Amino acid sequence: MKSIVTGGAGFIGSHMVDALVGRGDEVHIIDNFSTGKREYVNSGAVLHEKDIRDFDSIAPIFHGVSKVFHLAALARVQPSIKDPCTSHDVNSKGTTNVLVAARDAGVGRLVYSASSSAYGNQDTLPLHEEMEARPMSPYALQKYTGELSCRLFSQIYGIETVSLRYFNVYGPRQTTEADGVYATVIGIFLGQRASGRAMTVVPDGTQSRDFTHVRDVVRANLFAAESPNVGKGEVINIGTGKTYAINEVAAVIGGPTVWVEPRLEPKRTLVDITKAKELLGWEPTVDFKEGIEELKKMCGIVLVVSV
Ligand code: UDP
Repeated sequence: MKSIVTGGAGFIGSHMVDALVGRGDEVHIIDNFSTGKREYVNSGAVLHEKDIRDFDSIAPIFHGVSKVFHLAALARVQPSIKDPCTSHDVNSKGTTNVLVAARDAGVGRLVYSASSSAYGNQDTLPLHEEMEARPMSPYALQKYTGELSCRLFSQIYGIETVSLRYFNVYGPRQTTEADGVYATVIGIFLGQRASGRAMTVVPDGTQSRDFTHVRDVVRANLFAAESPNVGKGEVINIGTGKTYAINEVAAVIGGPTVWVEPRLEPKRTLVDITKAKELLGWEPTVDFKEGIEELKKMCGIVLVVSV
């Protein structure tokens, strides 16, 4: 089986590549290393150092491919607020390029990495896929229109697509650069602890998120690529159905905290994963506290026990 992973040198994409190479696929990575890292590139995959904004350079790679996992993106909210044009080019134009290349090559199915940020603030929880999208940032809007593009391409060109809305993905290889614009809260806290700094909690720390382990996200992609129940642009939540306050995250990691600037952001996310169970037969498997303990060990953060 020949597969493409766009963003295959990135945090989630590189885990995706590892899983596909591990099961014997011929895997082609498309990545421009804007946020991806060379050390994450699986040596069993074929690397194409290309930019999804450049259609002509990526289109030939799609010939003979049966599955496309489209993960390449400028994947954060705050940078998109600062520079909406660049994130539009990558996330919106790039997605259209990938869809057109997949359509032209007669690709079997495209699995699109969508984002829970499409929900914004809703009046009720848990979040389910039929709720109206309420993007609160250019990134959220771009990821949401990517879902619509996938569905439209299924409708008008017949290419099979499915969109997975990820909720706060964490795990090995997430950036721990505490000051990096692409870092997310768990990576930031781990990076701060590893360098002996206080964890920067956005007030008042009672805001909560549904944190999903990257290994479960990879499994969701594998299931979505094969399931006979999807392929028409379905949108499916990928989360855990549990929510942890940022104060709890800091407590599990352990160490001093400091308040930082408040943000315009959703207060709480909690996801309904009924659709993922029904259509994909997928359920999360990684317990949050175990996932964090594994990361702490990898980052060299150990609890100092006084004797
Ligand atoms: N957050 C925090 N300290 C940080 C970074 C993030 O307390 O240094 C909080 C942030 O306010 C949000 C949650 O952690 O409530 C998750 O933020 P992140 O940027 O990881 O993902 P988001 O859910 O905003 O996409």
